[in-house]
Amino acid sequence: MSAGAEIPNLVRGRDIGADRILDADVAIVGSGPGGSIAAYRLAAAGARVVVLEEGGYHTRPEFRMQEEWSYPTLYQDHANRATDDLSITVLQGRSVGGGTTVNWTTSLRTPPTTLDFWKRARRVEGVTAEALAPHWDEVERRLNVHTPEEGEINENNRALLDGAKRLGYGFELLPRNVSDCVLTGMCGLGCPVDAKQAMHLTYLPDAAAHGAVIFANCRVRRLTRRGRRVTEAAADVLDESRDRPAGPTLTVRARTFILSAGAINTPRLLQRSGLPDPYRIVGRRTWLHPTLASAAHFDRKIEPYFGAPQTVGSHHFAIRPGRIGFFLETPPAQPMLAGLAHAGFGPEHRRAMKELPNTAVLIALLIDGFLDEEHGGTVGERGGGRLSFRYDRGPALAEAMREAMKTMARIHLAAGAREVVTFHEPPLRLRTERDVARIDEASVAPNRCGVFTAHQMGGAPMGEDPGIAVVDSRLKHHFFDNLYVMDGSVFPTSLGVNPQISILGLSSLAASALAKAG
Ligand SMILES: Cc1cc2nc3c(=O)[nH]c(=O)nc-3n(C[C@H](O)[C@H](O)[C@H](O)COP(=O)(O)OP(=O)(O)OC[C@H]3O[C@@H](n4cnc5c(N)ncnc54)[C@H](O)[C@@H]3O)c2cc1C
Repeated sequence: MSAGAEIPNLVRGRDIGADRILDADVAIVGSGPGGSIAAYRLAAAGARVVVLEEGGYHTRPEFRMQEEWSYPTLYQDHANRATDDLSITVLQGRSVGGGTTVNWTTSLRTPPTTLDFWKRARRVEGVTAEALAPHWDEVERRLNVHTPEEGEINENNRALLDGAKRLGYGFELLPRNVSDCVLTGMCGLGCPVDAKQAMHLTYLPDAAAHGAVIFANCRVRRLTRRGRRVTEAAADVLDESRDRPAGPTLTVRARTFILSAGAINTPRLLQRSGLPDPYRIVGRRTWLHPTLASAAHFDRKIEPYFGAPQTVGSHHFAIRPGRIGFFLETPPAQPMLAGLAHAGFGPEHRRAMKELPNTAVLIALLIDGFLDEEHGGTVGERGGGRLSFRYDRGPALAEAMREAMKTMARIHLAAGAREVVTFHEPPLRLRTERDVARIDEASVAPNRCGVFTAHQMGGAPMGEDPGIAVVDSRLKHHFFDNLYVMDGSVFPTSLGVNPQISILGLSSLAASALAKAG
């Protein structure tokens, strides 16, 4: 099926006028990479598959590179999702295609060190690079994953490459899942030319071609169970204009249920449904790759809002024994995103925005979840059905935040930046290595320094020990015979790389095994 195909068998919420009850072999909650590839594998094996997605179905004609439309429409909580104390901004996709509709196209396999750690420390069995390799090969072919050409590196990425080179830090060109990309740089707003091989252009049409039916604007409220089996999923049909239940409900009865609602929402659905959790692990150990940003002003045009994002990365500091490692990438910086992220108020903020055309931006993603002292995020309810999400910060995180910010500042100064501006409140302005040392004194307490996440993981981890894992290594729930989780929430720690290829590979492995088992 070629890129750009409309999804057949897709039903929008507005097309459901009355309560409906459906029977299926497999019901899948969520249409991000985890849910989409599972839908394809199972439908291709002959199962009657139904996918329920709370977000809308949005496609190229709507992707007009307008931030004020994309963030409220394509992101969870209209892009206002955050920790309870508002100190970590949580960017997470919410539409047919999930995070792949808005993500920044970096396509990397799970590092072997991470897989080894899961085996050793979290009793994950059979999830090896060898077992995943054929699935990754197939995914990379389908999504046209390839390494960018030299000419596709924009000035923003060039600054990382130049600075890392000068300092002797390792760096790499990052593979992307695009076809005929025209380098608009608008990946985060929905690709305006269908170059990004997101799920709504690939595995969802593939699944639909095998008979899968996809329901958009249908939010699963609750699972019902009898003994060791889940019997049905109850969904509210949403009125897209108000994002509220429209009235009708959709009930799906199925032989098998797969939760692919993403980290945070999958654990939340398990909690809301009152499924057994005797060791109180559901929704705990949620990992974020907590992300720090750093901006740098150059005397030349950088235009960080144009051109492919994240073509260059560095894993030079990913492994720091006994401490939290981090990796470096270059995000796209459209004006609204930059304006919201930048610290400072009034004249300070205006000055930063005026400098945007000459600004390069780096992000450092902290690789959380590998140290005993880390607890990560906890998902719960705040009453009125509202999400509660807290993230525990210890001294190891503070140390890594400072090291990451110092590293980003050094890279930009080595690349020729006039000054580096941190995301502290108020921001620090750094021009020399002596200035960089001031980062050690600046507070990194909540809300004193901007932290973001676009990579939510964990909360329903896999492993053979039900005391520490919600699902087994084949992603089946420990206490249910017909309930699976296939999305980013099964990772026992963060990954150390951007998640989409790990999720696709692992879900493909698990869904293929499930299809074989019948
Ligand atoms: C701005 C941004 C940039 C990113 N860049 C990259 C990148 O370059 N490379 C990379 O590898 N990763 C990137 N990511 C992360 C990546 O996209 C996600 O890790 C991935 O999409 C997660 O997949 P998932 O299947 O776990 O869940 P999701 O993709 O989050 O999909 C879950 C789906 O379930 C739906 N859902 C949730 N609750 C319910 C419910 N109750 N009922 C029905 N449906 C529900 C949601 O609406 C959503 O569509 C980025 C993410 C963002 C936000």
